[in-house]
Amino acid sequence: MPPDTVSSFTTCTGHDQHGRYPQVLTLADFQHNLAVVQARMAAACQRAGRDAASVRLLPVSKTQPSDRLRLAHAAGCRMLGENKVQEAWGKCEALQDLTDLRWSVIGHLQTNKAKLVARFASEFQALDSLRLAEALDRRLQAEGRALDVFVQVNTSGEASKYGLAPDAVPAFLQALPAMSALRVRGLMTLALFSHDSARVRQCFVRLRRLRDQLRQSAPAGMSLEELSMGMSGDFDIAIEEGATVVRVGQAIFGARAVPDQHYWPGLAGPVEVDGGSAQSLHPN
Ligand SMILES: *Cc1c(COP(=O)(O)O)cnc(C)c1O
Repeated sequence: MPPDTVSSFTTCTGHDQHGRYPQVLTLADFQHNLAVVQARMAAACQRAGRDAASVRLLPVSKTQPSDRLRLAHAAGCRMLGENKVQEAWGKCEALQDLTDLRWSVIGHLQTNKAKLVARFASEFQALDSLRLAEALDRRLQAEGRALDVFVQVNTSGEASKYGLAPDAVPAFLQALPAMSALRVRGLMTLALFSHDSARVRQCFVRLRRLRDQLRQSAPAGMSLEELSMGMSGDFDIAIEEGATVVRVGQAIFGARAVPDQHYWPGLAGPVEVDGGSAQSLHPN
C-alpha cells in the first residue's frame, strides 16, 4: 500500500509527520489543507453514521508565526489552539485587530500561569488538578470572565502524558461546580503515540466510555457533551469513536520544525516507530 493513503494517516500519531505535511505559505495552501481535513472529517463521520456538524475542528497553531495565523483567519478559522500559554498570549496581542478570533489553550498549565489564561482564553482543555481549577476560577472571577474547560484524562497510562487517571475523574468533577467561572464542557485526551491503530483507538474508546459512565453520576447541570480527542495523525479514528472536537495542527499548518518533546516534556520518543524515523526525534 502506498505510504500516503488515508489509512496510513490513521495509524501514525504525533510524530513522524515531516514530509507528510508540506509547509503552508499562501491563503490557497490553507484553503486546500482545510478542505482536505474537512473531507477526512466528513468521511469519518459518514463511516460512523454521525452528523458532520457534530464535530468541531480546532486548528492548532503552535510554533506558527502570527502572520501565518492571519492567513488561517482569512481562510475562516475563528478559534485557534495553542499548547503554551505564553506563546498564545504573544500571538493574541499581535493579532488584537482580529476581534473575532478566540483562543483555546490545550497544553499543560502551571498554576502560576492561570492569571494569563484567565485574561484572554475562551477555552482551556488541559484541566488536571484542583489547585489549577481553583486558581483559574479565582482569576476569572477577578476578570469578570468565564472559561469553557475540558478535563484532561490520561487514557494511555503513559507516565509522559498529563491528565488525571480515569478513576480519579468522578471525584474531581464533584468539586468543580463550586467554581462558577469554569464551564465544564467535557473530557480531553491525547492517545498513545503509536503506529498500532488498534491501541490508539483503545484510548479513544476509553475516554468515550468514561464520559458515558460519568454522565450517570456527574453533578447536576454538568452536561459533559464534549470529547476532545484526535490530532493530525489519528483524528479519523477519534471521530469514529465519538470525538466532538479534533485538535489538528500539522495537517493544516504543515509539519512543525520544533520536536514534540518541547510541548510534551516527558515524551521519550515514539513508542513503536520503525528505527529510521525515530532518529529525527532526538536531535540532541
Ligand atoms: C500540538 C497539539 C495537537 C495537534 O497535533 P498535530 O500533530 O499538529 O495535529 C493536538 N493536541 C495537543 C494538546 C497539542 O499540543
